Amino acid sequence: MSASLLEVFLDHAHRAPERPLLTFEQERFTYGQFATHVTAFARGLKQRGLQPGERVALFLENSARFAITYLGVQAAGGVVVLVNTAYRQVELAHILSDAEVCGCVTGAAGAAELVPLRAQLPSLQWLITVERPTTALPESLTEVPFDTLLAEGTSATAPLVMPRPEDLAVLGYTSGTTGRSKGAMLLHRNLLANVRAVTEAWRWTEQDRLLLTLPLFHTHGLMVGLHGTLFTGASADLRRRFNAAESLTALRDDASLTMFFGVPTMYSRLLEEARASRVKPRALRLWVSGSAPLSPQLFADIEAELGARILERYGMTETIMNTTNPYEGERRSGTVGFPYPGQEARVVDVRTRQPQPCGETGEIEVRGPHVFAGYWRRQDATAESFDADGWFRTGDLGDVDADGYLRITGRARELIISGGFNVYPREVEEVLAMHPGVAEVAVLGLPDADLGEQVVAVVVPHPGATPPESQSLVDWCKDRLASFKKPRQVVFTDALPRNALGKVQKHLLRAALVPPGT
Ligand code: ATP
Ligand code: MG
Repeated sequence: MSASLLEVFLDHAHRAPERPLLTFEQERFTYGQFATHVTAFARGLKQRGLQPGERVALFLENSARFAITYLGVQAAGGVVVLVNTAYRQVELAHILSDAEVCGCVTGAAGAAELVPLRAQLPSLQWLITVERPTTALPESLTEVPFDTLLAEGTSATAPLVMPRPEDLAVLGYTSGTTGRSKGAMLLHRNLLANVRAVTEAWRWTEQDRLLLTLPLFHTHGLMVGLHGTLFTGASADLRRRFNAAESLTALRDDASLTMFFGVPTMYSRLLEEARASRVKPRALRLWVSGSAPLSPQLFADIEAELGARILERYGMTETIMNTTNPYEGERRSGTVGFPYPGQEARVVDVRTRQPQPCGETGEIEVRGPHVFAGYWRRQDATAESFDADGWFRTGDLGDVDADGYLRITGRARELIISGGFNVYPREVEEVLAMHPGVAEVAVLGLPDADLGEQVVAVVVPHPGATPPESQSLVDWCKDRLASFKKPRQVVFTDALPRNALGKVQKHLLRAALVPPGT
């Protein structure tokens, strides 16, 4: 049996080298051709001195080269560090120094971001460039063009030792929605266990072809999209980035496509584009949504107008995929379904940590072979996140309905306890979002001498409209919710702070609203 996804991929390449794997812009790769590039890249890295367990960052847009370097670093015994391409100096300095990377694969724009950080990154030795840098590199940094490394590796003969299941494969940095992003240590066995579970649940086979427009630096695109393709021997049409019009055209014209994966924003853009252009996609075998909540309204609109019943699933950097709506059977909107085969999920009371009965909200915990080995150099955060029986505290709140479907209702850290009552911000946000004067809203708890915490709503009014009165928003909530849930304060702002994936960063709002020292 294979010990890693890498081995499964190389095995496909060995047995069926002619099978198509990837198209990207003008490039076409079979499994055999791809494996040749991956092994050459790995040999090139080893020849340059990469030691087992050393970290190499990928700060790169989607491309075939992304996938080659991703697998190549692993085949050389190295650890891949994934970096969001939207990140700039502060985030880059944090991740690359935290992971102590010795190399970084990047393009011209990436190199320009990195050069000023040289002094903060003493461990960084090489920049592997997929384009010529336009900025002069400091002498202490060796530039190795991607093609040079590949050529060096092609003539090298160093044997490649396949990773063991317990070896570290990837440091996946969390999105930083709730604080500074942490490096989740994913082992080869975690990657393999989860991709096996996902492909089994979704009946993914070598006949499938995925339109892959999600970013590869994130779990959804990489560990679901690319991993599933490599594991099953299937193929993918990889795009540099998501574009609604181009995606829709491909989904109408290319009869070989069988699957599309997206985040909710991508689905709402596809729908808008389909309405405007009257282009309709063909029927696919599978449409998947995840990474953020898919509203029941969007789920229904997509079904009515595009004829697709989306399958929503729930995952995170630390555990890859946790739960999924059923492939066969009812896909229930507003829920994320059931644990994948061989994995467990439950909801526990946030104080007693005892499993909650049906319908009661609590923190979601997961357990199984997909769960990461801990946060990189963050023993404190790791210890806080696991209990003695190996359950991982996801930090997400949810409940399970009578039929066993899990629903995500917010983040545990964001739970507000006001006057001894639990207030779930998502519930108040949903009510305020229905107010005609509200474009966007975030609800959070701020310290209060009397109540412990008080409910505060930060509201972005609809541009162009007269902003609603604070009191009218409070009354709007009072008419629809228990009184203890109504905001005590309404703050107006032009925009909510969001991270690079578009998730609202409430810790920044809190920091802006709470005077220092309180
Ligand atoms: P950080 O951990 O740094 O605060 P993050 O949790 O946003 O950031 P990710 O690992 O990228 O970082 O995101 C995982 C989170 O995304 C989950 O914990 C959950 O809150 C949310 N999520 C994923 N899928 C869904 C979904 N289908 N519905 C609602 N939320 C989802
Ligand atoms: Mg998280």
